[in-house]
Amino acid sequence: MTLGTASVMPGQPTAIAELLSGSAPTFSFEFFPPKSDRAEQVLWRAVRELESLQPDFVSVTYGAGGSSRTTTVETTSRIATETTLLPMAHFTAVDHSTAELRNLIGHFASVGVRNILAVRGDPPGDPQGEWVAHPEGVRHAYELVELIKSSGDFCVGVAAFPEKHPRSPDWDTCTRHFIDKCRAGADFAITQFFFDWRDWVRLRDAVAAAGLDTPIIPGVMPVTSVKQIETFAKLSGADFPSALADRLRAVGDDPEAVTEIGVEVATELSSRLLAEGAPGIHFITLNKSTATRQVWQNLSSTPVR
Ligand code: FAD
Repeated sequence: MTLGTASVMPGQPTAIAELLSGSAPTFSFEFFPPKSDRAEQVLWRAVRELESLQPDFVSVTYGAGGSSRTTTVETTSRIATETTLLPMAHFTAVDHSTAELRNLIGHFASVGVRNILAVRGDPPGDPQGEWVAHPEGVRHAYELVELIKSSGDFCVGVAAFPEKHPRSPDWDTCTRHFIDKCRAGADFAITQFFFDWRDWVRLRDAVAAAGLDTPIIPGVMPVTSVKQIETFAKLSGADFPSALADRLRAVGDDPEAVTEIGVEVATELSSRLLAEGAPGIHFITLNKSTATRQVWQNLSSTPVR
């Protein structure tokens, strides 16, 4: 199987939407901004190790506030200027006025970052708390999409929730808002992590039934720690299947065995999604390269279509 192409080489596409219009599925990696010098070393080791796989793009999440936001902007800029990788910056509306948002968008443009994932963000300190918009900011991600699109030639992605957003009253309402976000000008979407491929198919079909063809890239997280996945699933509202939880807990004291199961599950999920026509796979790496490399190798050696 051929997954993706080399990244930012002369003449290569620099907009993710262009990559998604090609015949091969894209593959991409997500990193988070480091909080210490040691974490920065770990991140850059993962970036360099994964760079050799020539992903189509890589993304850096936007911190909940303070210094981690500066680190997001710095890390994305550094990827743009010091690597061969095509970077995408995650960007949230939390605690920013529209003027500040415009300023940051301009900064991304100045360092050559054209791809932005426009997400609303969660309340700092308590991701499950009540969302309060900045008095001079935006309320929802669709407004952020419009703002970025009106600021220049950007390729804009949005977040998708195959199981539904944890704060949405029901799946239909969540999907209606997602479709509005696509209509606001989103070029593509990346999903929250999930474990059942049917959830992605259901969302893809609902979007198609609304007359849209926005590519929805599944977000896949290879599990490497039982405790971590339990925390993430709680925060994101993602369903952590009990059969998988039981399997992982049975080997919970053995990190290698946990990773082995995580790689197997992520490989099966990704293969199935690609066979169902997913436009690519976005791996949530948690700044580690080993599990993602293994899934990538498994996928590369297995015909999926
Ligand atoms: P929105 O689209 O604004 O939706 C938020 C809620 O409002 C949903 O319940 C939605 O149904 C509802 N809604 C939307 N539009 C309307 C409307 N017009 N009227 C009424 N209700 C509406 N968070 C970070 O802090 N940093 C990151 O880097 C980050 N990256 C992410 C990457 C991905 C791929 C995903 C899936 C999530 C990411 N998040 C990140 C988390 C995200 O910020 C939260 O999940 C947030 O609560 C929702 O963001 P959103 O962009 O979907 O918001």
